[in-house]
Amino acid sequence: MKLDITRGIQKKGVDVPFDLVDVWGEDRWNGDTIAYVRPVSVSGTYMLADETVILRAVARACIESPCARCLKPAQVQVQAEVNEAFVRDTGDPQQEFDEDAYRYSGHVLELDDAVRTALLQELPSRILCKEDCKGLCPQCGADLNVHECSCQKDLTHRNPFSALASLLNEDEEV
Ligand SMILES: [Zn+2]
Ligand SMILES: [Zn+2]
Repeated sequence: MKLDITRGIQKKGVDVPFDLVDVWGEDRWNGDTIAYVRPVSVSGTYMLADETVILRAVARACIESPCARCLKPAQVQVQAEVNEAFVRDTGDPQQEFDEDAYRYSGHVLELDDAVRTALLQELPSRILCKEDCKGLCPQCGADLNVHECSCQKDLTHRNPFSALASLLNEDEEV
């Protein structure tokens, strides 16, 4: 996602509005493969303060991830503020930068890193297909949203004595 700042360079100190849309594919997040299922959009303004570009924008995306409980694809709308400064890289090897400063050279800002970081920070820690997703049965793997399996019933009614009884029964059968 590239932002052409030619207009801003010509008019320093002035907020220049912009809108960008880009199609992103898959990404990795918390060990899962996620996908940007609609184009990612970024809109806002940028301004050149001397040679540093001050960006104030909002990024929007729709992200698909496996549901944390049932693993079915789940989608979340994400909106994130992208307020960052981009320092001009003069190409001089002696030039010093803040460690986490974004850089640009020429008249183009590469926004992907800043936008991606802002969006992923806004994701909930667990993405669910629905708030009350019942997940998968840990024993047989049945999707409990679709139907309750019989092992689920055993679990809820089990007491120490019936567990012991079934163990004894298994021993007898051997
Ligand atoms: Zn689910
Ligand atoms: Zn089960």
